[in-house]
Amino acid sequence: MRTVRLRAGLDRPLGVSDDRTIDARTACLVVVETDAGVRGVGEAVGPPSAVTERIVDERLAPRLAGADPLAVERQWRRLLTDDLYKERKGAVVAAVSGVDIALWDIAGRTRDEPVYRLLGGDTGGTGSLRAYASDLFWDDPERMADRAASYVEQGFTGVKCHLGRGLAADEARVAALRDAVGDAALMVDLNCGYDRAEARRVGQMLADYDVYWYEEPLAPHDVAGLADLARSLDVPLATGENEYTKWGFRDLFEAGAVDYAMPDAMRCGGLTEAKKICALAEAHGVTVTPHCFTTGVGLAATMHLAAATPAFEWLEFDVTDFPLFGSLLAEPLTVEDGRVTLPEAPGLGVDIDVPAVEEYRV
Ligand SMILES: [Mg+2]
Repeated sequence: MRTVRLRAGLDRPLGVSDDRTIDARTACLVVVETDAGVRGVGEAVGPPSAVTERIVDERLAPRLAGADPLAVERQWRRLLTDDLYKERKGAVVAAVSGVDIALWDIAGRTRDEPVYRLLGGDTGGTGSLRAYASDLFWDDPERMADRAASYVEQGFTGVKCHLGRGLAADEARVAALRDAVGDAALMVDLNCGYDRAEARRVGQMLADYDVYWYEEPLAPHDVAGLADLARSLDVPLATGENEYTKWGFRDLFEAGAVDYAMPDAMRCGGLTEAKKICALAEAHGVTVTPHCFTTGVGLAATMHLAAATPAFEWLEFDVTDFPLFGSLLAEPLTVEDGRVTLPEAPGLGVDIDVPAVEEYRV
């Protein structure tokens, strides 16, 4: 078991709430090899990749040495339960997510089935999943509107933007975007940028523009505040990319704090845990739109989860110029008319393009 740490500088920095910008993106793949010579790849999202590497090397790899890789549930418990009382959220859960996804890749390759079939899914005959364009980062209203219109022209029926720099500045952009995308769904992501009062004022404004969902207006700690917004605003609330495990999502669902749940399979506990979170969502009448803003490995894992989830609605598809998204794969997952074809090859159904990986290796 080992990690592959990657980093790519961005030509065009990505702006989010609170004047924050992202000028480089990183990724951490987890590779697991079995005694039988089957190799699986997963991905861990969240902590700095050096932290994930250390957790994988020192804590997770020794625990799985000699273990049955196909007993995924048992290995998940072996990796997490002993530590869970002191590692309930954060870096260890993210690292385990990467290992868990690699184990599912191994299971699929061993059984000669795509992972979504092992999870009990199908594609309803279409062979593809509907995607929204993610994301439109902070810029002038006109430039954001032009970019949004180009995504709709490409066939996307949903576009997500990043706001969160004050009511007036946000409204100028939402108005321009609504004009630009016409009837397409418009999602707004705040990246935890507001306090309760500001989140309420902005949420009321968003409802006037028929915004599809209002994502992470508040810090993930404020479950009561999210629940209050969900009850009182007309715009539906989305959150969950910063939540971990079924126990964390149970608290969100029981509080009524979310309409669109966004578990990130690379972070919340892997495919094993994400599948359970999706079932919990279904039981609470919550729609699932998995969070996925990372490499093509993570996208493939998310697609298998989505295809096996009755409560699934939208696939997040990265339309920024992120070199690790497509070029990392021997055959990139591409979007056509707003839909992404589900990989049908065994396992996750994606193979790493080794020269491309070496180019971005840390
Ligand atoms: Mg988000």
